[in-house]
Amino acid sequence: MISLVPSWAVYNEEFWETIKHRNLWFIKLRYGAVLMLFAFIVSSEFLLGIGFTQTQLVALTLINCSILVYNGILQWLRVYLKCEPFKFNPLHFSLVQMVLDLSALMLLVYFTGGIETPLFMLFVFHMIIGSLILPGTVIYTIAISVVFIFFGMVLGEYHNLISHHAVAGLLQTPLYNNFKFIVTYSIVFGFVILMSVVLANKIANQLYLMEQKLVESLEQLNAAEVEKQNYVIGVVHEIKTPLSAVNSYLDVILQGFLGPVNEKILAKLQRVRARSAEAIQLTNDVLKVSKLRLLDEIKKEEIKVRDILSSVLKKQRANFDRKKVKLHFKDNRKIRSKILGDKLLLEIAFSNLVSNALKYIEDEGVIEIILDEKEKGIQLEVCDNGIGIPEKDIEKIFDDFYRASNIRSKGYEGTGMGLSIIKHIVEKHNGTIEVQSPSRLASTNKPGASFIVFLPLE
Ligand code: ADP
Repeated sequence: MISLVPSWAVYNEEFWETIKHRNLWFIKLRYGAVLMLFAFIVSSEFLLGIGFTQTQLVALTLINCSILVYNGILQWLRVYLKCEPFKFNPLHFSLVQMVLDLSALMLLVYFTGGIETPLFMLFVFHMIIGSLILPGTVIYTIAISVVFIFFGMVLGEYHNLISHHAVAGLLQTPLYNNFKFIVTYSIVFGFVILMSVVLANKIANQLYLMEQKLVESLEQLNAAEVEKQNYVIGVVHEIKTPLSAVNSYLDVILQGFLGPVNEKILAKLQRVRARSAEAIQLTNDVLKVSKLRLLDEIKKEEIKVRDILSSVLKKQRANFDRKKVKLHFKDNRKIRSKILGDKLLLEIAFSNLVSNALKYIEDEGVIEIILDEKEKGIQLEVCDNGIGIPEKDIEKIFDDFYRASNIRSKGYEGTGMGLSIIKHIVEKHNGTIEVQSPSRLASTNKPGASFIVFLPLE
């Protein structure tokens, strides 16, 4: 079987998807056309005052019924098509559709007056659509065939070789036997058809080339991103190794294994130790984000979100107690559906959300965690009445290393990578995360923040 597929598109999923989508679109469009033709046959006499003979009515009804039948068969066949270039594929299917449609249209034109019917203009529309899908040689062959068959029909009617089916009431005097008229109209018709095909085909080729370039650029961008992330991982690892060594030496000194250290130096060393611990935390967070960015697919296992949350809350219990924070945990779902996802990653995300709420809340604050069912998914809200996030910072809060302006001078420890990690994890699960501040628990000087995560069931 001849391959109609351009070489660049053989393995291009996007190309096949577009063709399949267009095929389905034509099938739907054809049902509309059938309905319109039926309405036209039934109402033409009343609305336009034009009448069909018995033969015309039978022929038009039969043509319309055939369109309906072959459209049904095409719709059924469509599902079984495979995108293999050298077998019968969606592109061959487009060609079959086109040939069937053009044949039906040629018959419609013939039974509604040949050169006298305005319906022959519909060929232009078909040619443009065909040019967008089929390769140049195929569509040029079809266009030339259509023009010649049309000429043949018109000349056949002129020389009374085939009978002419005029539509009564459409024209005052017949035109099919007016030689000058048929020659002029046929030439213009042929010219319009060929020009439409040439132009549409040129535009379609340019579009395909642009699409191809876009795909290539996207692939290059992805490759560059992978390279960048691997580079970041390499560099951060190199930084982390001496940092860990510094930490170990500091621990040896601080724990007194090298002899007594005077109070002043001890205090300074403790600060150095805290700062280097922060630096290690930062390297760990950067590594996590880079690895998440490199992750093509996450593990997909059935997960009960509530179980993950319970485990996170259990681990954070001491921190709740230490700050005397009240926790309200509500599960409003009627059906406790499971989601497909990576348990470990989701635990990291939920744990980060809860630790943030605990970090940015004052003693005796309130944290509400609510699970809700949403259309085709689960919603988790972590809401607090802590220090909140200023409006101007909200937009950037999920960016790497970003920390809000209201905490920068207040000594809250952190790297500004937590929310970025959470967002990546949620997006890897095809979910979304948004933030609101003030939260619904807001009171004077305690605006609070609320993080709402949506995770789809599939
Ligand atoms: P950090 O390590 O600084 O906590 P995150 O990425 O987790 O980094 O958070 C980014 C910034 O978002 C924080 O520095 C803080 O300003 C703000 N933030 C996050 N969670 C909350 C919260 N529950 N309440 C108030 N501010 C928050």
